[in-house]
Amino acid sequence: MKIVVPVKRVVDYNVKVRVKPDQTGVDLANVKMSMNPFCEIAVEEAIRLKEKGIATEIVVVSVGPAQAQETIRTALAMGADRGILVQTDETVEPLAVAKILKAIAEEEAPQIVLLGKQAIDDDANQTGQMLAALLDWPQGTFASEVAVDGDKINVTREIDGGLQTVALELPAVVTSDLRLNEPRYASLPNIMKAKRKPIDTKAPGDYGVEIAPRLNVLKVTEPSKREAGIKVESVEELVSKLKDEAGVI
Ligand code: AMP
Repeated sequence: MKIVVPVKRVVDYNVKVRVKPDQTGVDLANVKMSMNPFCEIAVEEAIRLKEKGIATEIVVVSVGPAQAQETIRTALAMGADRGILVQTDETVEPLAVAKILKAIAEEEAPQIVLLGKQAIDDDANQTGQMLAALLDWPQGTFASEVAVDGDKINVTREIDGGLQTVALELPAVVTSDLRLNEPRYASLPNIMKAKRKPIDTKAPGDYGVEIAPRLNVLKVTEPSKREAGIKVESVEELVSKLKDEAGVI
């Protein structure tokens, strides 16, 4: 069984992002970039399926600039087998990523495309769902547990107030939630080994996909600063403030 894992290079989750002075976006100059955390979880799950003898090959795909190769190398050092870098310096929106992934899924014929549920830069939470629709494959999103059972995969999903398990026929699209697993750190020998694993470099045009943005970002602003709270001396004072100042009772 082959698994394709799309991985996105994003601003590291520890970085406090700054909005550009002209409000056109977030400042990426000299900012640490890393693999999107949900993609790391997806890579880890694919590796665990390989370790269990269920998967035989893991192909990681990243759509992004030349530096996204480092993100692919990280996944290869964790245990993936080979990579495909679809190189572009343009902004690629989820629909265009999904179209590229569709073409790759048709070429590679995996049984599972295992994505992160969301990329923490734009928080879109769209690519997996769009990919499933384009391929007309079943989808199991927000997976907190996956179990392959013959030609089916059971995906346990985190939903409001509980868990839901769906059975999907393979091939299928699955997206990982936070509690699916804890990704491993790559060991030094595996980092060295990953340097020799193959990465194919392609362009969006190789898949016939037009990536021009369809959305126009009007402006990006910082969240408003929270004002400090106040302490009241008595219940009477609290009630009077809620009534006369806040007007909520
Ligand atoms: P999003 O829909 O942008 O929140 O992203 C959800 C998931 O889609 C990510 O966790 C990745 O698995 C995949 N994805 C999104 N953008 C890219 C990209 N540029 N390259 C590779 N995978 C991506």
